[in-house]
Amino acid sequence: MKILRLPLLGLGLAALCFSVLAAEPNANAVPYATRDNPEILVLDARDAPRGLMTASMTIPVKPGPFTFVYPKWIPGEHGPTGPLNDISQLKVSANGQALSWHRDQVDMYAFHVDVPAGTSKINVQFTVLMNAPGDVMATPNLFILNWNRVLFYQNDTNSSEVYFKPSIILPKGWSYGTALPGPQQSGNRVDFAEVPLNMLVDSPLDAGIYYKHIELWRQGDAYQMLDIFADKPQDLDIPNSLIAEYKRMTPEALALYSARHWNDYHSLLALSNAVGFQGIEHHQSSDDRAPDNFMTKPDQQLVSGDLLTHEFSHSWNGKYRRPFDLWQPNFQIPEHTELLWVYEGMNQYLGDLLSFRMGIRKPDQYPEYLAMLYAAMATEPGRKTEPLIDTTTAAPYLYEARGAYPEIRRTAGDFYTEGELLWLDVDTIIREKTHGEKSLDTFLHLYAGPPNTGPITKTYTRADIEKLLNEVAPYDWHAFFQKHVYEVADLPPTTELARAGWKLVYTAEPNAFIKAGDGLDNMNNQWYSYGIKIRKDGTVTSVREGSPAWQAGMAPGMQIKAVDGQSYSKDTLNFVLKQAEHSTTPTIFLVKQDGWYKTLDVNYHGGPRYPHLARIPDTTDMLAKIMAPQAGNGM
Ligand SMILES: [Zn+2]
Repeated sequence: MKILRLPLLGLGLAALCFSVLAAEPNANAVPYATRDNPEILVLDARDAPRGLMTASMTIPVKPGPFTFVYPKWIPGEHGPTGPLNDISQLKVSANGQALSWHRDQVDMYAFHVDVPAGTSKINVQFTVLMNAPGDVMATPNLFILNWNRVLFYQNDTNSSEVYFKPSIILPKGWSYGTALPGPQQSGNRVDFAEVPLNMLVDSPLDAGIYYKHIELWRQGDAYQMLDIFADKPQDLDIPNSLIAEYKRMTPEALALYSARHWNDYHSLLALSNAVGFQGIEHHQSSDDRAPDNFMTKPDQQLVSGDLLTHEFSHSWNGKYRRPFDLWQPNFQIPEHTELLWVYEGMNQYLGDLLSFRMGIRKPDQYPEYLAMLYAAMATEPGRKTEPLIDTTTAAPYLYEARGAYPEIRRTAGDFYTEGELLWLDVDTIIREKTHGEKSLDTFLHLYAGPPNTGPITKTYTRADIEKLLNEVAPYDWHAFFQKHVYEVADLPPTTELARAGWKLVYTAEPNAFIKAGDGLDNMNNQWYSYGIKIRKDGTVTSVREGSPAWQAGMAPGMQIKAVDGQSYSKDTLNFVLKQAEHSTTPTIFLVKQDGWYKTLDVNYHGGPRYPHLARIPDTTDMLAKIMAPQAGNGM
């Protein structure tokens, strides 16, 4: 815990006005930082390789009490995730004199100062601590800059009306990528054009010493770039065939939506095991973070090949079209997240769909992929008590949820995975009702289609979505969403499987996607057999309620030391699993938990068990139609 100390100067005077607490956040204040007199932000990133940056701001002010705030509710993160603990060594001065500052006692994102008479600007400087467990933004070779983490702005102003003039000083020899307009580089300093705060926060910047800038698409002045930064130079040796598939991203997205709402777009990709897996959407860029070998190991693309397409699709669905109450006029006003079942749920479907249509994953693999999604949701115990709408409403907290039994609690991931099943159901219903004339693509043309625009936002309500769907295919969409989203549902949407010509089966053959994921994560997924997920060292990470392992008393955190007397390994367990098919005696697991050893008798004789889809004979394969490339000539 870091304790900040108040400078002694001016403390007596300050105590009077500092006793005023921040009111409810609003966006009604007149901003002092305007286009003609912007807040100057200079970010010195030369110490980024050791996890530090220095942010220096010159903020236009007027004499008297003044409050500046650190962005709290971060678009795309859907929660109050502004990393307050990243602020250190905060200094405020005016006319060369230190000013005392005071944090608000209720709203810890707000800082109060008393601006002396005759002062029109204050200087605010702080050291940005870039790395924390689970939130690594800098390595010795690259960094990811989210501007909301390195600035303060005048309290209660509208983020589209308060202007910034941002600059960055890079480590020597580093390149950068960003959608920020008007870059002027001189040596290792880059100055950008004046932009409103909402555009600045919406325009992350990646930089690094090992990089590749690839133009994926261009038409007139509009273009899409893939800006890749890697911890290791060899991770930039990307196969040409993969680049060719990524070059189909804009053509397939334009076929899907039939217009764009960006001028130029940068997919910013950081390849770093230290940084980890993440994706954050923006109007004209995406902040994509993936493991070192994301672009060089085929299984990475099989398992997570929708990372860039998901974030790209958000430019239309999420940024251009956004739930009315998720959009807010500044970053202190809480976002309401209940409509994430559209924003994220539909986008999960569309990001996957684009990856299959582009060929990153092959269209004929989609049934196998779908089987994995469906089985995970259908066997989740938490769904018996918690409707999907509660996972979206509580998203700001569920995104941060850690700990055992995520399948009992339900997770933020559910409205993505189940959202895909939901919107595939919508797609198949439209296709069936219109005899293949229309599809979800038709809806998307109405929802986020022509005309082309720059990065603007149009909000929607649930009723807007249902009305628009009704224009495409008349149906009781309100009742449909009520059943699958707003009420407890024993099963996820299911009828889309048969409607698409497929049925769910379980066989001993591993599911290709589960197998690839297990390989990357060093896991052994026995969720559909014993009912457990196991790490390489035998540690059980989760147990399915009601499963054979659950009945035997298995718990997360137990480490399997031996199975039927033999030391645990994945191969040993697989052997025992098959042997038990021909036996009626229980399998004996020796487990260790908190220093205690015990044996558990697991009664399971069903053998290896993995989900797949099988074709229903004499039906049309709608999934093949949905996942087929749509951009002309396969381009
Ligand atoms: Zn998303």
